Amino acid sequence: MIVGTVTEIKNHEYRVGLTPESVEELSGRGHRVLVQAGAGGGIGADDDLYVRAGAEIVASAEAVFARAEMIVKVKEPQANERAMLRPGQILYTYLHLAPDPDQTRDLLASGATCIAYETVTDAAGGLPLLKPMSQVAGRMAIQAGAGALEKANGGRGVLLGGVPGVLPANVVVIGGGVVGFNAAQMAVGLGADVIILDRDAAVLERLANHFEGRAKTWFASRANLAAAVAQADLVVGAVLVPGAAAPKLVTAAMLGTMRKGAVLVDVAIDQGGCFETSHATTHADPTYLVDDIVHYCVANMPGAVARTSAYALNNVTLPFAIALADLGWQEAVRRNRHLLAGLNIWNGHVTNEAVARDLGLEF
Ligand code: NAD
Repeated sequence: MIVGTVTEIKNHEYRVGLTPESVEELSGRGHRVLVQAGAGGGIGADDDLYVRAGAEIVASAEAVFARAEMIVKVKEPQANERAMLRPGQILYTYLHLAPDPDQTRDLLASGATCIAYETVTDAAGGLPLLKPMSQVAGRMAIQAGAGALEKANGGRGVLLGGVPGVLPANVVVIGGGVVGFNAAQMAVGLGADVIILDRDAAVLERLANHFEGRAKTWFASRANLAAAVAQADLVVGAVLVPGAAAPKLVTAAMLGTMRKGAVLVDVAIDQGGCFETSHATTHADPTYLVDDIVHYCVANMPGAVARTSAYALNNVTLPFAIALADLGWQEAVRRNRHLLAGLNIWNGHVTNEAVARDLGLEF
């Protein structure tokens, strides 16, 4: 199959759909891989690396779209990219169609076969192509929070791990899923005092068994949340209610109970945020103050560590890309119902029930 990847053009997107290592795997299996010149620049992979991996460097996105049978990307195609898709072509990338009727209309009109990373499933009922980005965001939340706690950034001037003779910081993680677990791991590693709150008893039990006392678990009742937040130096918001906006667990009034210069990192901001005072920020200007509490609310945290994120993403997308290229999409989805769950659009039809329902379209 002819597989192509292009330079991501969404604002501040530096990741790339195929790393040179992924190209090598595909070309080693006899596939022809077209890479737009400069596509790997954002992760420090220059065209020479791609050539050594077996890619053909192509001058423009137009040329890649014109020749490739499958396009592998990171972000949803922008309007000019959608216009280049053609019937029967495979598009394999994050799509997030449910809140995006314009994109859905264009993809339906294109006749392309569109497989969305975010709806591919696994045997445990998880979303394996979303998971690495939650891992990245969870780990980054502690780095971001540590920086925000510094005086010059408006924080209370506390080092997460303390030093011998000085107590470490109190880190409170709300939500013990993928983001919360990874945040807790980093905070524990730095020597902070960590409490993880969740409402799911099974999650609390799993975390308690894993951390063996190095992080404490607490049921996320309103009272426990309020008590934990009041004592915190750093609070990480990591809740998810599937298909719904994040619940506002820390209210504006609760800020008044907190220590001046404490930090809130709202990882759930992409679902509206779990702190009432959160609003989305960017990497260029990531924090703001409300009542002397530092808020960090960047909606695309993995973008800041594009290289790590691109490799983490490729680790999970490549096996499906190989299956699609080796078998063709029909046979690949026939053999793997988890990849079938990723099929969102085929031949002018929405083929994912939840996406169709959210958009009020026929399934
Ligand atoms: P997850 O499903 O693995 O975990 C969510 C956890 O929240 C679950 O354990 C659930 O029991 C818990 N929860 C739900 N309601 C709760 C409540 N009221 N109180 C306490 N806990 C509650 O989800 P995840 O992958 O960890 O993602 C968490 C959030 O991070 C999502 O909103 C996701 O979209 C977001 N995210 C943001 C970025 C970013 O760049 N900002 C990147 C990745 C993920």
